[in-house]
Amino acid sequence: MATKKAVFIHSSELEKFSYPADCPFNTDRAGQVRKVLNSMGLLSGPGRSEAAPVAAERVVLKKFHSARYLHALRAAAKGRWDIEALNMGIGTVDCPVFAGMYDYPALATGGTLTAADLILSGSAELAFNPSGGFHHAGPERASGFCYINDVALACIVLAEKGKRVLYLDVDVHHGDGVAYAFYDRSDVMTISLHESPKTLFPGTGSEDEMGTGAGEGYCVNVPLPVGTYDEAYLKAFNAVVPPLARAYKPDVFVFELGADALAGDPLAHLRLTNNVYVEIINHLLTYDKPILMTGGGGYNVDNTVRAWALAWTVLCGADSDRHASAAVGGVMLESTEWQGGLRDRALAVSEQQRRSVERAVKAVIEEVKTRIFPIHGL
Ligand SMILES: [Zn+2]
Repeated sequence: MATKKAVFIHSSELEKFSYPADCPFNTDRAGQVRKVLNSMGLLSGPGRSEAAPVAAERVVLKKFHSARYLHALRAAAKGRWDIEALNMGIGTVDCPVFAGMYDYPALATGGTLTAADLILSGSAELAFNPSGGFHHAGPERASGFCYINDVALACIVLAEKGKRVLYLDVDVHHGDGVAYAFYDRSDVMTISLHESPKTLFPGTGSEDEMGTGAGEGYCVNVPLPVGTYDEAYLKAFNAVVPPLARAYKPDVFVFELGADALAGDPLAHLRLTNNVYVEIINHLLTYDKPILMTGGGGYNVDNTVRAWALAWTVLCGADSDRHASAAVGGVMLESTEWQGGLRDRALAVSEQQRRSVERAVKAVIEEVKTRIFPIHGL
């Protein structure tokens, strides 16, 4: 197979920004991922390159966000904040007012849109913006550390060029902002796997939210129980995503890889290891279509950085030679320091955890199959 063109999106400009100290959202993660990958020599070589984001312009942001909201965001960044802004979610605990609250998301969004442009022009087949993935923001709403919805905007830009987009969201939180952006459309299918709304923010994303009108069946939610582990997660993924993706036949994938479903995340309650992400990315690669991958949540910074560094090595094929050997009895025959260091070790699953998770996952798979599959002739 020919080497694919893979672009890593980052610049030191992004590293100038940070959320207030008491906010769990860490903008340094992307820079740390870049540092790790650079030290491994994985940002250059066959097919691999880097690109710097350019801040998204207001006219582009208005493809999803209202002028009134963008104005309020910019004003708040300059210290002018009022009750109208608060009503749009600006200045809450999750979306605090801070100096970079417009410039940072505009630049991070610029990174995701740069990735979309590179894919549309054919300059890249695979792209990763670890500073992207702000899936909670609504047209007129800041929510869950998200001010500007870069992933919804990327889907809009790709769909405008006639691409069938499959948006896959594995962040532990429901990808509500993106799901609702395309709720009545069939040209962007959204699939979100997340912790059950019964136990986690934002409290949406149950199986019965499945789109409306032309979009009925093109919004797919896979809510998962507390304690979901690798095997159970992959069971749900394999039951739902491959059949739908094959039926839908996307031209491009937009993949939100929030890493907060990993065990040890302080804000959520799933128990995955990053080996799940390897499986998922390897599956997406089998379609031979462009993949625009972004970051997202991930509040255990070390685990998140390692997961995203690993995700890039798999996405750009740097993992492939060793991947085969890794499969032999789980032993890394040609293990190198970095690869041994990036993959999580398997986690033990208790009998009780297995019983309760298995039952709930089985139920959710059946529910999705019953509701969604017939619409796609499955
Ligand atoms: Zn999240």
